[in-house]
Amino acid sequence: MATLPELREKLRRPLELERLRGYENRAVSGGLEKLLAGPIAGPFPQVREALRGYDALGPQERQEALEQALALLEGVPARPPSTPKVARRDAALPPLTAAPGTALAPGTPLSQIDWGHGGLKKLTGLGLQTLRDVLHNYPRRHEDRRALPSLAEIEDGQKATVAGVIVSKNRRSPRPGMQILDAVVQTSSGERVKATWFNQPWVEKNLREGSSLILTGRVKRFGKSAQLGVEHMETLDQAGGGSLSTGRIVGVYDAKEGVSQDFLRRSAQTTLSRLDAGDYLPSHWRKQCELTDLADALWGIHFPADEAHLARADHRLRFDEYLFLELRMLLQGEDAVLLGKRFTATDRDMQTFEAGLPFNFTGAQRRVMHEIADDMRSERQMARLVQGDVGSGKTAVAACALFLAVKDGYQGALMAPTEILARQHFANMQAYLEPHGVRVGLLIGALTPKQKAEMQATIASGLIDVVVGTQALIQENVTWANLGLAVVDEEHRFGVAQRRKLLSGRPDVLVMSATPIPRSLALTAYGDLELSIIDELPPGRTPVDTKLLQDNHRTQAYGFVMTQIREGRQAFVVTALIEENETLELLAATQLADDLRVILPEARIDLLHGKMSAAEKDAVMERFRAGGFDILVSTTVIEVGVDVPNASVMVIENAERFGLSQLHQLRGRVGRGSAKSYCILVAGEHSQKTRKRLKIIEGSTDGFVIAEADLKLRGPGELRGTRQSGIPDLKLGDLVSDVEIIERARDLAKHILSHDPLLKHPRLAALREELQARSQQVAYREVI
Ligand code: ADP
Ligand code: MG
Repeated sequence: MATLPELREKLRRPLELERLRGYENRAVSGGLEKLLAGPIAGPFPQVREALRGYDALGPQERQEALEQALALLEGVPARPPSTPKVARRDAALPPLTAAPGTALAPGTPLSQIDWGHGGLKKLTGLGLQTLRDVLHNYPRRHEDRRALPSLAEIEDGQKATVAGVIVSKNRRSPRPGMQILDAVVQTSSGERVKATWFNQPWVEKNLREGSSLILTGRVKRFGKSAQLGVEHMETLDQAGGGSLSTGRIVGVYDAKEGVSQDFLRRSAQTTLSRLDAGDYLPSHWRKQCELTDLADALWGIHFPADEAHLARADHRLRFDEYLFLELRMLLQGEDAVLLGKRFTATDRDMQTFEAGLPFNFTGAQRRVMHEIADDMRSERQMARLVQGDVGSGKTAVAACALFLAVKDGYQGALMAPTEILARQHFANMQAYLEPHGVRVGLLIGALTPKQKAEMQATIASGLIDVVVGTQALIQENVTWANLGLAVVDEEHRFGVAQRRKLLSGRPDVLVMSATPIPRSLALTAYGDLELSIIDELPPGRTPVDTKLLQDNHRTQAYGFVMTQIREGRQAFVVTALIEENETLELLAATQLADDLRVILPEARIDLLHGKMSAAEKDAVMERFRAGGFDILVSTTVIEVGVDVPNASVMVIENAERFGLSQLHQLRGRVGRGSAKSYCILVAGEHSQKTRKRLKIIEGSTDGFVIAEADLKLRGPGELRGTRQSGIPDLKLGDLVSDVEIIERARDLAKHILSHDPLLKHPRLAALREELQARSQQVAYREVI
């Protein structure tokens, strides 16, 4: 029986987690009310009452309700019926505007400050609501206006920024459809320049004679006179903010019609000077991570004193973006602090396993194996992702980990996304493990009910050590005697949610993925998993020879396929995914198979597509693997890691429609045997850009290099398998270049949470508040 304090603690944890995660009702699966309906809330009816209907409440009401529930849980008497949150917060502050001189918290609503006539509306029109929003509305770029050049020094074609007063203006239309605005601008030193706008008639109303402007653009020289093709214009407001806009490194903001740069700069300045300058990051951590303090950073991003100031400001704020991202990720993995199994996992046992292999581990395998063993020895639940190209030796490493688990008397599971993969893994595990006396079983849908029942009974009685099967079967229908380690072969089939579900059990968990993604992305998208990378292939592999062909040369491609078939090899032909539409895809694949039967009458051709049942697919794959026919025409379903060592060539039709990582993935299906292998990309119509993309695949066989290139070309949102990851739009951060800073931020986040898993320490109150504020801004894109 749990004592009352224990129950209270059990209830408090999820409630505090909910608070940390911004009241999204995601802290507990099924929602808070489900938790409250259960036994732990029994002794606390008032808490249950306070949170009644929680899911239906708005964000502020939720916050209100949750705070009240937490207070009740501590035995603090209930507050009188609540007033809406905003009103309460307003009431706590001076009635109209905060008195000058009071330092304001970042969460203060903008309405507390006088922004000048119409100012508040301009700011809210930009989506800004609190002082924090204004602070984090960073300049999009910076311009060095410390010494505006003298016009005489500017060369033809050079880009320059000049400040001056409009002397005269003129509109002309040299030919129909073309409108040119000219303004003569006189600088403070008396020089004159003609500024020109092409086809931007709306600019005219901002050009009043006598008003001050700052113009950026390209200079054209005509003898002694200069003309400026304007690209960016700022009007200086009357209020004399000019000093913020000239004579220094100046931030240029994203603005809207009617909101001047000058106004935005003054708003940032007002905010900065009114703000309580406290830092949510305690100083010893700042020192440890070589970060400047928050106030210096915020001033520096808006009003840098010099380049160095801007650089350290950018570094700190960028670091913070990742820090909060990682904190949020780590806190989402509710099990971050769960205890898992503790294995002995000795070096000697690893050596025993390796000695039984027909090869030596590569350096990368050995490194990753040690990372895994470290996790296994610790009492925390392992949650580790092993990434590596197809054939890099992940399965061998997983077998070693399973061996270590069995050595300690535990059972292990190896789960695959499909039956055929499960069978393949089963054969591998038998080869790796049975010589060590490990008993390996298979559990798949194709077994008879009697066989299944027998297998389940053996697992439950502990008479079998390692079970290989499809994830669904193992997860839903197995009672384990003593499960210690679960390996999930993901092959990017399983989403985040499924992984979580799995992680909520007690075994250590190892996820294998053959989809290399850039480290920066892995660190942010899979923030709840530790990351191991096998970035080295076993020796002696010959890379797949890849060639890009224009589709009018495709007969060449199939001529080559035929020569391979005559040598006894087999071929894959893959058709492109069409708008995720399986019916159309099927049509395209069927059509292609028919065409090929005409072109290659000698070849035996069969078809595999997404509309087949799992059993049908497996049957076709098995026949292909056994050499029952020569060419497998398929839609992208063969992406999953089935081994057909005799297949030596793959043709990918409409290659331009695939992402690079996906092409790489597909290509990994050949080159699994000893024969030299080929991949021919047949591209239909494509742009230069597409060509550049496909050339990357032609030029590299390293999945990580390809993924990096893909990230650079297409941005994180487009990368396969990462769309659901909930990475917010970073303002300063750039996943392409920030690996190092992400790792440091992640280390700090882990360090913080390892000492204080729920950020409860009073010294971290400001950090917690900042985390909450930022979490609320994140639009989670979690799809599943
Ligand atoms: P993955 O799971 O990453 O696709 P596997 O573990 O299945 O890779 O390994 C692919 C093939 O390479 C297998 O036939 C395996 O026996 C072999 N292999 C694995 N590691 C090595 C190694 N270090 N040296 C030589 N061959 C290896
Ligand atoms: Mg594999």
